Amino acid sequence: MAAMEFQPLLEDIVATLRPQLGQAGHVADYIPALARVPAAQFGIALRTCDGQEAHAGDSTTPFSIQSISKLFTLTLGMRELGEALWERIGREPSGNPFNSLVQLESEHGIPRNPFINAGAIAVTDRLVSRMDAKARMLELLSSLCLEGVGFDEEVAASEAATGFRNIALANFMKSFGRLDNDVGTVLDVYFHHCALRMSCLQLARAAGFLCRDGVHPHVKEQILTERQARRVNALMLTCGTYDAAGEFAFRIGLPCKSGVGGGIVAVVPDRLTLCVWSPALEASGNSLLGMKALELFTARSGLSIF
Ligand code: GLU
Repeated sequence: MAAMEFQPLLEDIVATLRPQLGQAGHVADYIPALARVPAAQFGIALRTCDGQEAHAGDSTTPFSIQSISKLFTLTLGMRELGEALWERIGREPSGNPFNSLVQLESEHGIPRNPFINAGAIAVTDRLVSRMDAKARMLELLSSLCLEGVGFDEEVAASEAATGFRNIALANFMKSFGRLDNDVGTVLDVYFHHCALRMSCLQLARAAGFLCRDGVHPHVKEQILTERQARRVNALMLTCGTYDAAGEFAFRIGLPCKSGVGGGIVAVVPDRLTLCVWSPALEASGNSLLGMKALELFTARSGLSIF
């Protein structure tokens, strides 16, 4: 299928799901600024490896990307540190909620993987030691999606004011000697990365290097090596969707990374990247209609890594 051929499929998915908009699930309300987002929105966008695009619904509406940012924080960490990144972070699914403290204690402050909150905070700490990590994130994303990307300062402030668990996770890791920098400085960067505002179309473009063996979607530049890109996809499949990675593999069969803003990025290696967004979440924190949309997409297109 060429991208133009995907356009009717995406429109069909929007039409199929529209009657269900706002009917089930709940927007994330533990971050006050996210609790105000209207639930009845849905967007879908894709970009093929050779640069064709298709999109439908609210695909150009910016939303809070939240944990999808962990994908790009990890990318910056892998670029900067290579193998040394894994000294303080694991690669196993946690089997616990994304903000759980329990495992960190028994595992001496080493987070299970870079996609749970503790893991992303640990990667952020390594970045803070080496760069202006807020500026570098904006630079990376703006270059990948060919337009300016920014932080939603209201969401960042809202998270900083209420992120008691994240503050606890960071202090806990600090107590084990696993963070080099000041906890407040690291969390300020972490909250800003989570508070990035992007649309489905921008995210489908920005994650484009993941279906292209690590190559920048627009210029001849290696964002990650082929091996690193493959590893990010592997981590997305096993750890990218909170406690529902098994369910995602079973129902969808693609590496995915979701965020509590309701976005989900999915990769079909060597074919395309896809982003869906709908703010109402199911119990484990993934977008309810986003999951349904991905299931429809893979069923009707026949695309899957299995
Ligand atoms: N900023 C959110 C938090 O730290 C990210 C959660 C998510 O999207 O998984 O709680």
